[in-house]
Amino acid sequence: MTTQARFKAILLFGVPGSGKGTQGEVIGKFEHMCHLAMGDIFRSLDKQSDIGREFLSYSTKGLLVPDELTVRVWKAHVDGRVATGELTPERRLLLLDGIPRTTDQVELISAHVDVVRIVHFVIPDRTVLIKRLKGRALKGNRPDDANEDVIRERLRVYDESTAPVLSAYDTPLIAEVNADQSPLRVLRDLSDSLADYVPTTL
Ligand code: ADP
Repeated sequence: MTTQARFKAILLFGVPGSGKGTQGEVIGKFEHMCHLAMGDIFRSLDKQSDIGREFLSYSTKGLLVPDELTVRVWKAHVDGRVATGELTPERRLLLLDGIPRTTDQVELISAHVDVVRIVHFVIPDRTVLIKRLKGRALKGNRPDDANEDVIRERLRVYDESTAPVLSAYDTPLIAEVNADQSPLRVLRDLSDSLADYVPTTL
């Protein structure tokens, strides 16, 4: 990314387990979209590296990685994809999943992205979330999903540090989607909430 160019971005926002990642992966298949999940970026780091170890020291406790480090890792990842020609601000609309997660991250990332839409995946029933996260732990590489205390800590951190992110953006940018529905119905509602915001020229 050149320093002056900012990516246009759609922010997929919601509590852990609300389905942002599942939907982001589907929508990210469109040619002009690129799904960037911060948790996946962290999990792709070498676990023996300093940053990989630092990530694990937070994530295994259900805590957020410090803001500056998070945005630095995100930017390095994006720069890497720009260098390979995979991403250009003109051709790609980023689907940000899991970043920004604090109001300080909103500030730090605003130098690099212009958020054109925020979709809030709403799922008020925490028992549904806990069940989903435990189910996800069985499928893959997510030790933070296996332990109920860690899950509860992530939900607490969400309420305390991440929920306030919404108020950092203009209300008209925000759409709410009921995430407690089948994945196809969520996809339908998500598509409706995005259709007018995705430039047809992309
Ligand atoms: P989930 O949203 O289900 O908790 P993620 O895969 O998005 O899981 O993130 C896994 C972990 O990675 C988080 O618990 C946190 O430790 C770290 N992480 C991901 N995104 C961020 C972020 N924006 N800021 C700080 N830490 C993050």
